[in-house]
Amino acid sequence: MEQNPIRIAEILLDLVDVNLIGVEDLSDQGPKTPLRVHIECRGERPTCPLCHGKSYSKGTSLVELIDLPSFGRAVRLIWHKHRWVCRDPQCSAGSWSDQDARIAAPRLRLTDRAGRWATRVVGRDGRSVSSVARELDCDWHTINDAVIAYETPLVEDPNRYGQVHALGLDEILFYREGRYRTQHWSTSIVDVTCATLLDIVPGRDVKGAKEVDRQSAQGVA
Ligand SMILES: [Zn+2]
Repeated sequence: MEQNPIRIAEILLDLVDVNLIGVEDLSDQGPKTPLRVHIECRGERPTCPLCHGKSYSKGTSLVELIDLPSFGRAVRLIWHKHRWVCRDPQCSAGSWSDQDARIAAPRLRLTDRAGRWATRVVGRDGRSVSSVARELDCDWHTINDAVIAYETPLVEDPNRYGQVHALGLDEILFYREGRYRTQHWSTSIVDVTCATLLDIVPGRDVKGAKEVDRQSAQGVA
């Protein structure tokens, strides 16, 4: 059993190298008010990224991140980010803030784990962005931005298919549009040996599929 309070906090938070500063319970403002968990990065004072000299702290700024629910409650992780300045007045590094991709990617409003979870349930389980936003008690754009940010490297990774042994194409009626119920088709591209969906392209002619086929040709055995 862990009894060290720092490690207990790390285990409960599932984050390492952080200090748990405190917890704000604002349930008197409504039962659905998120729990606010305040953290800061722990560790040695960083050296200047430019001259590698010593730095000093110039205070902190608070960054509010949407996190996964905990103990049945919505959670906001409040990251007290230290702002650092190089001690050398001649150095042009300026100031910089704590960064830790294990907590959150820069510029996203979700924690890393919440962003990955949202991307997984939207991309794999087919859940709507709005339902995920409701569950995490945040707005649609916050989830959509995170899903795009996490999905893009996966989609742009040329090795995401692994080695494809045999391609199969399947045309599917995607939707009907307008007064005349005009049919719009899509083509699903699968690796038939392991029944894995590789991509979906618009239309049912060979043009879209050929483009994907060309991209994955290097992976075909
Ligand atoms: Zn410097």
